[in-house]
Amino acid sequence: VVLILVSSLSCPRWGAAQGQRTSPLDIRVTWAPSPFISNDRAIAAYELRVTNVSGRDLVLVGVQITRDSARGRVVQSLRGDSLLGAIVPVGARDSAASAALLRSGRQAIVFLWQLAGGREPGTLALFHRLLVVRADSLAAVPDTVGPVELTVQLRAPHVLDAPLEGGPWLARNGPGNSSDHRRTLISVNGVSRIAQRFATDWIKLGPDYRMWKGDSTVNRNWYGYGAAVRAVGAGIVVATHDGIRENIALSEERATPITLETAAGNYVIQQVGAGQFALYAHLQPGSLRVKVGQRVRTGAQLGLLGNSGNSGAPHLHVHLMQDSATPLGGEGLPFSIREYVSEGTLSSLDELFGATPWRPQSTVRRRGELPTENMIVRFPADASVRRSKPLP
Ligand SMILES: [Zn+2]
Repeated sequence: VVLILVSSLSCPRWGAAQGQRTSPLDIRVTWAPSPFISNDRAIAAYELRVTNVSGRDLVLVGVQITRDSARGRVVQSLRGDSLLGAIVPVGARDSAASAALLRSGRQAIVFLWQLAGGREPGTLALFHRLLVVRADSLAAVPDTVGPVELTVQLRAPHVLDAPLEGGPWLARNGPGNSSDHRRTLISVNGVSRIAQRFATDWIKLGPDYRMWKGDSTVNRNWYGYGAAVRAVGAGIVVATHDGIRENIALSEERATPITLETAAGNYVIQQVGAGQFALYAHLQPGSLRVKVGQRVRTGAQLGLLGNSGNSGAPHLHVHLMQDSATPLGGEGLPFSIREYVSEGTLSSLDELFGATPWRPQSTVRRRGELPTENMIVRFPADASVRRSKPLP
């Protein structure tokens, strides 16, 4: 009997052995995750789209993920604050405290960031169970919905070159599970996607590990302003935008009204793989070196780092996406950067504002990994510098 039970549980998609049961929730994974590598570990970042299809208001009280089978090892259990921190109600303006309240007909997104193993290729089966109670009887025993099975293909992510040279560069706003980039769902032409799922805002630091010197409202006082932005791979330029004036640094105001088209400021979108597009955003007006239809090689200069569009200070926004060659219409993809040196990770941006300058914690050379939120890295210097100065 035990053997039959185990085998039926390991094949939940057939369901029949366990009987059928109506569920108050519809749970979907709208984008099949492919992992990225960080600190030699594979991480799968994906989302559950959870819709309350019952006629009653519900409260989500737990998410449990097991691997290999529905009764396998628990690899993540979200409850309380960890659950509230992972849920965003779609389109709602409720406070964070009510994030777990799923009214009848409403949808919420559960943002997951799941350790998926090492660098070995293979597949990983994850099983998701959601616990809900009725909003009008919070003390009741929670109802379990699921398991919803997801197969993650473990394969090496697309390896790209760094979009910038030298450093140090600070990775802001992601990739991280709670970054603004990751949590921005935008529906373009009727399809909602997270184009910026793995986006980074690169900010250059000076030798003093500060972001600017002198008057912080002047763009050119920022160390990264005017840095050469380089193609991360070989491929054709498929879209550009130029002519958007720059903002005053650290101002809430924008020089141009922000729309879907102006949000990325002056930008280049380059096809760097089959159906895969890289966005380089917020460039200086008049700095674009490439035209639509032009094939560029890896490392070619595309433009100069600036502060145009929906940007509060000079930085380079980069992300990789599929299915759309518009700045915010694609589905955000992970990737790896060929080579960089990590100098450590800030616990908070405040560390850069202390009386004594920040200092590298440890320097580690990383190959084929993705720098994560608040990491400070150095990229290889450009080829001409490398020729004239032998690497230490
Ligand atoms: Zn950004």
